Amino acid sequence: MITGKTKLLGVIGHPVEHSLSPLMHNAAIANLGLDYIYLPFPIKPQDLRAAMDGFAAIGVVGFSVTIPHKQAIIPFLGTVQPIAEAVGAVNTVVRKDGQWLGTNTDVPGFVSPLQNLQIDWQQKQVVILGNGGAARAVVAGCTELGCQKIHVVGRNLQRLKEFHQSWENSPLAVNLQVHKWEALRELIPYADLLVNSTPIGMYPKVNESPLSQEEMAELPSGAIAYDLIYTPNPTQFLQQAQTVGAVAIDGLEMLVQQGAVALKMWLDRADVPVDVMRQSLLQYLGR
Ligand code: NAP
Repeated sequence: MITGKTKLLGVIGHPVEHSLSPLMHNAAIANLGLDYIYLPFPIKPQDLRAAMDGFAAIGVVGFSVTIPHKQAIIPFLGTVQPIAEAVGAVNTVVRKDGQWLGTNTDVPGFVSPLQNLQIDWQQKQVVILGNGGAARAVVAGCTELGCQKIHVVGRNLQRLKEFHQSWENSPLAVNLQVHKWEALRELIPYADLLVNSTPIGMYPKVNESPLSQEEMAELPSGAIAYDLIYTPNPTQFLQQAQTVGAVAIDGLEMLVQQGAVALKMWLDRADVPVDVMRQSLLQYLGR
């Protein structure tokens, strides 16, 4: 029920219609019985400043940030937490002491399903496919886990070099190496954790995978294949991984957990109903 006291949360993006965040957050808010609502706000890039001013004027408590605003929003924030600065992207904003504070909850979101696995990450090597925005959160997450080596594989040498340089002197990317795609075959036998951070295999191109079944077969035993994509489930990448006996993790839990961390910040509480958030998405996605 919307009342005269209802507080506002939301997500900004362009487009934003595809976002599953309203579903997930409103399910949690309803479960908690709080007088909040989480809305989608389609904001064009040129309207970002006006939107931020408007949000401040009407007392928006906080909001999620998606494409194309994740970097563009940084100059409009009073404080940017070090994790978001290192990743170079903000996905969560909260109003604090009359200022906007930005952070990045994709990092704890990515790490969450891996933390429960009781693995000595200091002995483990990671191979990350792709060097875009999500790969940055993955690098920071793998550093946080303490991985022995982090290999990032990309198709464009210049962008790979820039990616590597952008982490120079950052404590959030330790033992990082970048490689052209051709090196993948040599790296796979050492990939205790193989992460797909490319959009290859995402709906509607569901029959595509970033690597061949033969390449996947070279994974060491006990390896984990982690696809950041959550539609379809499983992706072709995860099907290949399951065929060779690897542990498969899809991107849904990352989506849920990044949302849970954000909701805790907005509501200023230590726990939120993560199960309800997960269940709302599973139901919507027909799983
Ligand atoms: P992005 O910034 O556009 O980066 C995509 C990366 O994939 C780039 O490095 C790009 O290479 C590479 N790539 C694209 N097509 C390729 C191809 N055919 N062959 C080789 N490399 C290719 O996108 P993003 O924001 O990082 O997102 C990546 C994926 O993660 C998306 O599927 C997104 O839905 C997913 N994601 C999931 C979550 C979650 O919560 N589960 C969160 C964030 C992202 P170039 O640099 O050479 O173009």
